[in-house]
Parts: sequence; structure tokens; C-alpha cells
Amino acid sequence: MARTKYSEQFCGYCNKPTRMEFVGEMDGVPGKVWFRCTRCHHNSLIALIAQSANQANIKLDASSATPYNPLQTFKIGESIFHSEWNDVGKVISKMKTSDGSQSILVSFEKQGQRRLIENLKPEPADLAHTE
Ligand SMILES: [Zn+2]
Repeated sequence: MARTKYSEQFCGYCNKPTRMEFVGEMDGVPGKVWFRCTRCHHNSLIALIAQSANQANIKLDASSATPYNPLQTFKIGESIFHSEWNDVGKVISKMKTSDGSQSILVSFEKQGQRRLIENLKPEPADLAHTE
């Protein structure tokens, strides 16, 4: 069998690309598949189609980009300005993890591809992240 069920994907729990096992497609959502991280064993829903759009090398303008804020949600193709890095990027995919948290994959001009949290719901009592 030439096709492996393992590939490198970004794990939102480990917060870095890890070796992930293909679990299965999501019913009725083409291009979205579940992967299980071989490190932390969490499942992540990964949009495969959107990831191939990252070769679009469009010049980005910081003044027209949306300032990044983890409490906001972003759209694929949206330009984002990250003030801490002084860098602009474009949202190339979105991912929802199995615990319901959301993240975006942004292709920055200087930083390269970075995974950022979106739609963060501030819950001071939530100390569930034990990793
Ligand atoms: Zn992981």
C-alpha cells in the first residue's frame, strides 16, 4: 500500500505541526477530514482544500488588513495584521478542534505560516489545558 494514513498536520493542542493519523472524512463536508495527533491523541478537523491555496502570493497591505485579535473570527482569504510581529498575512485555512476551539492558518509575509487562535471565549476559570 503506497498511501499512508499518516501525514504532517498542524495540531492545535501541541501548537505545532505533528505526525497525525488520518481518521476519516466529515460527513457532508467535502475537503474536511479528521486527523488524530500521534503525540497528544486529540482529534482535529482539518480543511484539506483550503491548504492548497497558500501559493497565492498576493501583495498584502498592512493598512487595509484586519488587526489580529484572538477574540475575533476571520474568513479564508482575509488579510490580517499582527502588530506584535509587525507582519501582514492572509488566512489560508481554518480549523476547528475536537473541543470546539477554533484556529486559523495564516501565511505571513515575514513569519511564514503561523497558526493563530480565533473566536477565543475568555473563560478565566477554564484551566483545562494541562499539557
Ligand atoms: Zn497534538
